[in-house]
Amino acid sequence: MSEEQRGDGDRDRVIAGNWKMHHGPAQGQAFVEALPEPPEGVRVLLFPPAVTLPALHASVRSSGLPIGLGIQNLHHEVSGAFTGEVSAEQAAEAGAECALVGHSERRQLFGETLDETARKVGAAYRAGLTPVLCVGETLAERSQGRLEEVLDRQLDAVFSPPTLREQSRELEVLVAYEPVWAIGTGQTATPDDADEAHRFIRARLGELLGEAHARRISILYGGSVKPANASELLAVPDVDGVLVGGASLDPRSFAAIAASE
Ligand code: PEP
Repeated sequence: MSEEQRGDGDRDRVIAGNWKMHHGPAQGQAFVEALPEPPEGVRVLLFPPAVTLPALHASVRSSGLPIGLGIQNLHHEVSGAFTGEVSAEQAAEAGAECALVGHSERRQLFGETLDETARKVGAAYRAGLTPVLCVGETLAERSQGRLEEVLDRQLDAVFSPPTLREQSRELEVLVAYEPVWAIGTGQTATPDDADEAHRFIRARLGELLGEAHARRISILYGGSVKPANASELLAVPDVDGVLVGGASLDPRSFAAIAASE
């Protein structure tokens, strides 16, 4: 659906699972077989390892489950001598409809720069993928009172360049707020923390892309989300969904999160 066709009240509730480097093709297929039908009105996305994507795509199609698939990372070029990399076009051909961009593990462990995140978002648009831009501060940045400065920098890198700004107004983009200190640590941001950051992100998106457009962008929260804390986070007005790492590996806990009130 183009962004023009979407109204303000149409923000999707998105429950996304980032499998990171877990679940090869056989485990991916077993996951789909064990996953119950997601509740009406919930958009479920799974981000498997790249090698699992084609098998998962085939199982999702044969199961008939309404699940969208995405790639965890991509290279900004269409093709070329970039050993070990996957392009947005190749991911789309393998069944992806979305792409995670700028996950904190990419930024921190693989040195992904702000410039690269911008190029990757452009590549996702070029291939018809929906980018899911991940932003968030480290514990040190948070304790130095730099939350807003960090989020600003990460959002500006992608949404300020004129071409990307235009494309981001026309094409679908999702944003995931993932405080780095809450990822894989068991430490979750409180609903108040999430509220503060999500409001800030929405306001900044409003300045960059226009308020009407910013109101239509789904902003997900990520960081140690589990069945026990998903409801309170999803109750925060600007939290439109969750991006789940560890708890998305088990079909029962992922389904329980998807079924959260
Ligand atoms: C993630 O990897 O995006 C994530 C939020 O991980 P976890 O849920 O394990 O903290």
